[in-house]
Amino acid sequence: LRDRLQDAALLREACLIDGAWVGTPATVVSNPATGQQIGRVPNLSADDAVRAVQAAEQAFATWSKFTAKQRSNILRKWFELIVAHREDLALILTSEQGKPLPEALGEVDMGGAYVEFFAEEARRIYGETIPTQRPDARLIALRQPIGVCGAITPWNFPSSMVTRKVSPALAAGCTVVLKPADETPFSALALAVLAERAGIPKGVFNVITGDAPPIGKVFCEHPAVRFVGFTGSTEVGKILYRQAAVGVKKLGLELGGNAPFIVFDDADLDAAVEGAMVSKYRNMGQTCVCANRIYVQDGVHDAFVEKLAAKVAAMKVGDGTEPGVTQGPLITPDAVAKVERHIADALQGGARLVTGGKRHALGGTFFEPTVIADVRADALVAHEETFGPLAPVLRFKDEDEVIKLANASSFGLASYFYSRDLGRVWRVAEALECGIVGVNSGLITTEVAPFGGVKQSGLGREGSHHGVDEYVEIKYVMMAGI
Ligand code: ADP
Repeated sequence: LRDRLQDAALLREACLIDGAWVGTPATVVSNPATGQQIGRVPNLSADDAVRAVQAAEQAFATWSKFTAKQRSNILRKWFELIVAHREDLALILTSEQGKPLPEALGEVDMGGAYVEFFAEEARRIYGETIPTQRPDARLIALRQPIGVCGAITPWNFPSSMVTRKVSPALAAGCTVVLKPADETPFSALALAVLAERAGIPKGVFNVITGDAPPIGKVFCEHPAVRFVGFTGSTEVGKILYRQAAVGVKKLGLELGGNAPFIVFDDADLDAAVEGAMVSKYRNMGQTCVCANRIYVQDGVHDAFVEKLAAKVAAMKVGDGTEPGVTQGPLITPDAVAKVERHIADALQGGARLVTGGKRHALGGTFFEPTVIADVRADALVAHEETFGPLAPVLRFKDEDEVIKLANASSFGLASYFYSRDLGRVWRVAEALECGIVGVNSGLITTEVAPFGGVKQSGLGREGSHHGVDEYVEIKYVMMAGI
């Protein structure tokens, strides 16, 4: 990989603590498309995590005192460097994660857009004056940075999940210790190289790789850490929630989803098929907002399945760096096993295989993009997040029925529906129990809108001006004797 980068220094086999690149390369990171080793990263300990937290604590004293404009300018510089190195960043991303190169470029741009947005937002973190209740006093609310933040990110968006957490934190005046996913540390480390070049002072942004549970424990228990931001599985989110009780840490949790994708009789069918493709098969189905259950109304059901299957069957599977490939490998053998389990269970329950259905001839963790129809409401795939290229279609009769089906989940992250009836659009958007609704769109993520879930999909919002709220505390000041 190193030879194919324009700037080989971006591929860093070391961690960043207090402005120093540290650690011995140890844990092997491989390319899921080829199985080949990309490089090795250090296996840092809980003690190293404590050191990084201490560095962040020290840096907080000065970084939080920078003016908003100074912080804004430095973040802006970081954004510009991300744009300038977008091709290298995307190549690193595809190599460690597997998504097709055009998607990786999209993610790098999206990740950069968070930095740009929060560079702008840094100057607009306003407090308030409050009409007083007594004549001799004046009341104000300050918004101050919460302090040192721990961040834990997943492998499915190795670049944009990093900037979505780190840039609002830094904008607010916080400092960060980041632990990226074991499978995809190089995207995070490359962003740290650029952060350093942008002039982000030492200790403000630290990146450590190593065994996740002890590092997570340090984040949850160290007295200097005031906020822990996590994107990942609901299972690990619950562990962190429990651990965080010890130090009463504020938490941001972006956990799993089980997105319903609903197509009503009055939908623009071609648009709905297009939306389903984007929502379901982006990143080979490995996103927490991927359509997981596709409900199609009686009148358009058969036509929808036919059109979807034709598009799915035409997708090109392969190494994400090859031109024309739209589906890369899945991240691990376990991910493949889960897709197989969901398919087998649905077929056993009477579902019909329309296209795909098995491991791809390329071997490894490549899997055929799959569509199954006539799936029963009690199938595993209707209740668990698949995280793979499997589109299960379920038939429904009317609006009330499908809203009940859609809401019958312990998750509540994204939902999608296609309809052209204005009344229905309002009713359904309001009735769905989730944090994000895509109406006539399969792609909803943007830096300017709040992203987050309800129920067991998590706590808090990222992106938009709400994204800063996680990283500030409100301090009420009464000034009396006036
Ligand atoms: P996935 O199943 O998508 O890999 P995980 O929730 O296991 O999602 O991983 C998301 C992130 O959480 C990764 O960075 C991983 O290393 C980290 N992680 C896993 N287990 C723990 C834990 N016990 N404490 C803290 N972080 C963890």
